[in-house]
Amino acid sequence: MDLGAESKKRILLMKHNTKDIKPYITDVPDFPKKGIVFKDITTLLESPEGVNLCLELLLSELKNKEIDKVVAIEARGFFFGMLLAQSLNVPFVPVRKPGKLPRKVISQSFDLEYGSDVLELHDNAIISGDKVLIHDDVLATGGTVEAVCKMVESLGGQIVQCNFIMKLDFLDGSKKIDAYPIYAATTY
Ligand code: AMP
Repeated sequence: MDLGAESKKRILLMKHNTKDIKPYITDVPDFPKKGIVFKDITTLLESPEGVNLCLELLLSELKNKEIDKVVAIEARGFFFGMLLAQSLNVPFVPVRKPGKLPRKVISQSFDLEYGSDVLELHDNAIISGDKVLIHDDVLATGGTVEAVCKMVESLGGQIVQCNFIMKLDFLDGSKKIDAYPIYAATTY
C-alpha cells in the first residue's frame, strides 16, 4: 500500500472540517518491528496546515503559563520543540543520545522493552528555578520522558508541563509522569 498517497487522500478529505491532527499522522504497521504500529509524523511535517494546527493546539495549553526553557528529546521531539521555543521566545534545550553533546553533560539511563538506553543534557543548560516545558513527539510507555524529567529536576528545574504531539493511552505512559501536567495534541 502507498501510505503516502493514502494519507494525502485522508488529509484532503478531512482537513477542512477537523481540529484534530490525526488525519496528518500515518500509521505504519510492523515498523520498526512486527507488532508495533509506528506513528509516522513525516506526513504531518509535510503539511504547513497540519504543522500550524498542531502548534496552535500545543500553544493553547500554555496560555498564562510561565515558561523559561523548552527541553526537547532527540530526534523527533526537536521539530515542534524548536517551534514551541521560538513561539514562546525562550531558549531551546536539546536532550541527546550519548556522545553527541560537546560540553559537560549529565546522563540518565532508562529501561526499554528489551535492554536500556541513555540520554544526556548539558549540565548548565538548566539552572535552578528554571520553569521548563518538556516536549517529545510520542508518549508511549513514558520511560523516555521520565528520564528527562529526572535530569531536569536534578539540575533544579521546575517542570511546568510535558507535552507531546500524541499520547498512546493504551500504553499507560502518563502514570510514569503523573506528578506533572501532561498535554497531547491528539490521543490514541
Ligand atoms: P516511551 O519511552 O515508550 O514513551 O517511548 C517514547 C519514544 O519512543 C518517543 O521518543 C517516540 O519517538 C518513540 N515511540 C514510541 N512508540 C512509538 C510509536 N508507536 N510510533 C512512533 N514513535 C514511537
